[in-house]
Parts: sequence; C-alpha cells; structure tokens
Amino acid sequence: MSRVYWIKGRSKDFRKSITSRVATILGLDEMAEVVVPNRSLAIKVNVSELGYGYSLAPVVVNSFFEQTRDRGASSLVTDSGSLFKGPRFSGQDWTDTAIMQGHGIGDALDNQMMMAGGFTHEEGRFCISEGEHLGGVELGSLILDVTNLIVVSHVTAHPLAGLAGAVHNLGTGLLTRSGKARVHSCLELQFDANRCEGAKVCLAYCPTGALSEAGSKVSFDPRMCNGCLGCFMTCPGGAMSIRPGTIPVFQESVAEAAVVVAKNLRGKAFYVNFLNSITPQSDDYPFSDIPFIPDLGVLASDDPVALDWVTYQMIVRSPGIPGSIAEDLKVLEKGADKLEAITGTTPAHMLEYGEKMMLGRKDCEFLISG
Ligand code: SF4
Repeated sequence: MSRVYWIKGRSKDFRKSITSRVATILGLDEMAEVVVPNRSLAIKVNVSELGYGYSLAPVVVNSFFEQTRDRGASSLVTDSGSLFKGPRFSGQDWTDTAIMQGHGIGDALDNQMMMAGGFTHEEGRFCISEGEHLGGVELGSLILDVTNLIVVSHVTAHPLAGLAGAVHNLGTGLLTRSGKARVHSCLELQFDANRCEGAKVCLAYCPTGALSEAGSKVSFDPRMCNGCLGCFMTCPGGAMSIRPGTIPVFQESVAEAAVVVAKNLRGKAFYVNFLNSITPQSDDYPFSDIPFIPDLGVLASDDPVALDWVTYQMIVRSPGIPGSIAEDLKVLEKGADKLEAITGTTPAHMLEYGEKMMLGRKDCEFLISG
C-alpha cells in the first residue's frame, strides 16, 4: 500500500520555512530512488497563465532544483505550452511568460528550465496507450530522455478534471501540442449566442479559426474546434460551455495519458501537491478569484491516484472561506463538496478510471510528516 505524507501548512519558526519543507519532502524514504546522484531528474511545474495571481511561488521551484542538485541529481525544470493561443502558446511566448511569472530561466536555474516538447512544443514521440479512448499519445521528447520525475502541482479546482493535481498534471503537462489536442479531442463546445457580449477576446485565443467575427458578436464553427478551452476560459459572458457528456471521456483520456507517461519513464516518479491558495480557476486561466478554502500544507506520495484522492477528501472536509465562491454556492460547511459545487464535476471518476488502468490506488496509508 502506498503512503501519502502530509506536511502541515502552519509555521512558527524558520525550521518550517518553505525551503525547509522542500527538504522534508526530499528526505522521504521514497525519494532515495528518485533523487539519485548523476541521474537525470525532471521537475514538472506549471508556468501559469499571465493574469492568474496565485501560482506556486518560484522560490519553491528553485528550491526543488537547487536541493536536488545539491543531492547530486542532474536536475532540470520542465512544463509544456498551452493548447490555446494565449501567452504560453509558442516557445517564445512560454519563455517570456515564465520570466514574467518570476521563474529563473537562465542563470538562476543554470539554463535548465525548458518545455517538455522543445521550443516548438512538437518535439516528441507517439507512444501507444491502453484503455478505451486515445490509442496512444505524443509525449514530449524530454520526458522520454530523463530518468526520474517529480511532478509538483499547485492544487486548484479544474473545470473538467474537477481537481488540478498530480493526475491531471502528469496526464496533460508533459505532452506535445499534438498530444494535448488528442486528449482534448473528445470535448464538445457549445456556443450560446444570447450570452455573447461581443467582447471578442476569444478570437485572439482560438488557434483553429473555429471562432470568427459576426457583426457585433462572434460565430462558432464546431467542426473546426479542437477543444482547447481558450474561449471557455476567457469569455466574460459565459457563452461557451462544454457538453457534460464529454467530460467523463476527457477524465478517462487524461488518466490514459498519465499511464503512458508513467510507463515510458525510465526510472521512478514522485508527486507533490501544494494545497495553498486553492482557487476556483486552475493556473491556465488568465484571472483568478480568491481562494475558497484555507491553506492546508503539502501532500506527497509516489502514487498519483492516492495523492489526488487524499487531496480531494481534504478539500471536502475543510471549511470554506467566507466571502469566497464557497459562500456564494452555500458550501462553506465541512463535508460539503466544494469541487463539485464549483466545477459541476469531481475527480472521483478520473481517479477510479486511473485505478482501473493501474495508475495507482486510492487505498493508502496516511502519515503526518514534519
Ligand atoms: S472554439 Fe474551440 S478551438 Fe477555438 S478557442 Fe474555443 S475551444 Fe479552442
């Protein structure tokens, strides 16, 4: 049975600084096979969208990099670009945005922060998958070359996965653009012209030409849509929605892609979820509402399914923050499913499918560490 460790969020002195928490995580037993002298180690993080205000602090990323280097690993930091045409779309966009977000591209990370699919976001290889949907998916070349992996996730709600955590990060964040498009291809977007306010911000985000100007509003051609969600996340009137029946297929596709990444990794993977500043929007959004539950600390495990399951349960059991969306939706009390209220879905189906695909198991030993 795998173990999920909880490093609590409270700090009363320097021994519980954010950098010392990274040291606590790296000192866990499971890390002996992940942070190995002279072996390559990819640290997967999320460079958030410009305008999102609660992303994981760059000091956390730098601490993982520096402290794993100090332990002898050949570390690098990686992420992937977006499928929609925002400020992380091209390699240059992604680099500029990472710098704007405060990431130490260049000397601070020894020039070792790079996209998993290369500067074009398309360097990679199609790898066969098991399961009902994908048939296979394009992994970024970087993940095929490295030995070990630490997936560091900033936990938020997610409109499709229910939870942005380890499984979603593993299943989408190390793919090429083509791989991401394959995972998103099951989604069906619906356009409600009555809700279109004519802001037209969606036009700039759409990579396929599925949206076009139509007088004071826009028109939508679903045949050209790749399900990137750029319009869904940016439309101020909420004119774009996702056909609910396609969301479980998306969750299963993410789990299938996560299995492909895990199986094609040469060495071991470990997963760290930061449960701080948990917002209704994921880091992919160009804005962020305030957090809806208090900070809970850090969870860590070598099992992404167990880790996300515990993360989900802790969010449910936490009180909501008055004045946040949790109050709007009347889910302030402990035990209320905030993720379901906010997103209309939960991560349960994705995690159960992940279990079926042998990605991990929800059953776990829960340990409090540090
Ligand atoms: S219409 Fe489709 S392709 Fe265009 S931004 Fe929306 S989801 Fe993406």
